[in-house]
Amino acid sequence: MFIFLNTMKTTTNITIPKPAEVEKEISDFLTNKYGNQVKIVAPLVLPRHDEKEDDSETTPKHSPGMDFDILPDELITYLDQYIIGQNKAKQILSAKICTHFNRIRLQQGLGADNVDFEGRIKNNIIMVGPTGVGKTYMVRLIAKKIGVPFIKGDATKFSETGYVGGDVEDLIRDLAKENNNDLEKAQYGIIYIDEIDKIASSRDFIGSDVSRTGVQRALLKPMEETEVELKVPHDPISMIQEVEHFRKTGVREKRTVSTKNILFIVSGAFSGLSEIVRKRSQDRRIGFGSTITNPAHKAAILRKLKSEDLIEYGFESEFVGRLPVRAVLDPLNADDLFEILDNPNNPIILSKRLDFASYGISAVFSRRALRLFAQKAALENTGARGLVSVIEQALIPFETMLPSSGIPHFPVTEDVVTRPEKTLELWTGAGQKSLASIYEKITSENRERIIAYLVQNRSSISIQHKLPLTERRIALIGDYYLAHVVETSRAVLKVKSSYERIRAIEQLFYGLHDINIIFEDDAIDYLIEKTGDTLNEEKIYQGLTDDFEYGLKLLKEKTGKNRFFISEKALKKPEAFLDRLITMELGGGE
Ligand code: ADP
Repeated sequence: MFIFLNTMKTTTNITIPKPAEVEKEISDFLTNKYGNQVKIVAPLVLPRHDEKEDDSETTPKHSPGMDFDILPDELITYLDQYIIGQNKAKQILSAKICTHFNRIRLQQGLGADNVDFEGRIKNNIIMVGPTGVGKTYMVRLIAKKIGVPFIKGDATKFSETGYVGGDVEDLIRDLAKENNNDLEKAQYGIIYIDEIDKIASSRDFIGSDVSRTGVQRALLKPMEETEVELKVPHDPISMIQEVEHFRKTGVREKRTVSTKNILFIVSGAFSGLSEIVRKRSQDRRIGFGSTITNPAHKAAILRKLKSEDLIEYGFESEFVGRLPVRAVLDPLNADDLFEILDNPNNPIILSKRLDFASYGISAVFSRRALRLFAQKAALENTGARGLVSVIEQALIPFETMLPSSGIPHFPVTEDVVTRPEKTLELWTGAGQKSLASIYEKITSENRERIIAYLVQNRSSISIQHKLPLTERRIALIGDYYLAHVVETSRAVLKVKSSYERIRAIEQLFYGLHDINIIFEDDAIDYLIEKTGDTLNEEKIYQGLTDDFEYGLKLLKEKTGKNRFFISEKALKKPEAFLDRLITMELGGGE
């Protein structure tokens, strides 16, 4: 059953909720009452061609200062699309970052009078984990999803300069600069500082390690709350600009950013920290002094991390106090690295496919080859970072020779990895004929893979993109993904855009003929499959008018009914459909 949701005009002064709000309310009510048997058909909009408008993936809609409304589990679902493993860290970061911004929203909504107490604790986060396991990636993805500015700095840079405070504040200036000096937005940014372990005062140092503790101290205020002048002190250009501004306007410009709502996330590999935790937390006799070599064991020990361990490691207690949230990331083994590559949204494989596509070559990767890359990269001990170098190195001979060979396909097989020279020689010579069939085989393997991925994530994708995923729609998304170098969400949006354009034809039909037609799912899928990239609403509308207008108008007049469900069968055989409907409704009398 379907319910047709229309936008009503009214002459009263009541505040009318937005159609989307009404839709959601009715939808929730119906789901509670009838489960999935009843559907709402909405929204009623005019045809729209630009699918970018609904690009919830790349254009975040939320500005935390105003309408931030993401919940932690939505964020976890989003991260799951990109990040392999790291479930604990995903949970901690999603919860704490969401809470941070939701809290700001609450405070702004309630006003200062309602939420006012001393000693507000900011949820700044410390991330502990080896290199290349997804620390930066995770924070970057979250910042993108919630639509807040993000900047990454490196703690080692601070310690090299004499003017420490200035450096730390530069990060805040950069945050503003990155966002076209949008100070409003910069106030809600995320500042990510990597290699924070390098500013722990050295334990081998006799006395206090002044420069490193100096950097820690310089960070204390910004991490809590301070006003940072956007003008760099002593910078001649800033001073000239200021004078110029004063001359023109007569007003002295003071532009500052408050760090009150800026979230600080610091991270590092913290080598040696697990030994400190172990020493404190367990039996001092066993193995103290020896290093823990098993990376998974190390992560398990680090999960017991306490403030005192960080102090012992070389941080000032005030500094540790500013970092109440801790997330320990796991090392990645060869299986994890394979899963990373096997994820259809993986940027490493996508960018490699793009490299070859730029020469007109369609590259496809076999899973056997991905496994070999993963095994090689695991030996490098640099987490997922090793993948890029391993793949680059393996493919260089092909990237050099294939562009001038006229070969349109590049199937990355096991042989490409294990016997590159021989394979290249074969393919650019007598063996070129076999290339097409190898390519086909891997493409169909990839097709199976992307379909399996979409089926596995069907419900989260449906919810995220508000698109019911039928089998046929999944196949359409898979085909689009394979034919382009895009993330899965882009392929979903493409199909969703066609879906919405077809749905909009219902409205057009209603507006022009005063007849409610509602496409069944199979009819929509049929129309998308049939029209592909050439979907033309006007043509479909014209076809519908030719086929159905007369018959449906007649039915409407005779029966008073004005809601007709159009299935794929009806589109294919309109006359038979109308005959059947007339017989049913009018007993065959017309
Ligand atoms: P670090 O932990 O040193 O900050 P990054 O987050 O920058 O490492 O990881 C480098 C790259 O490796 C990322 O851009 C991403 O492509 C990939 N990567 C790292 N960890 C993961 C993971 N757990 N899942 C998926 N990709 C990952």
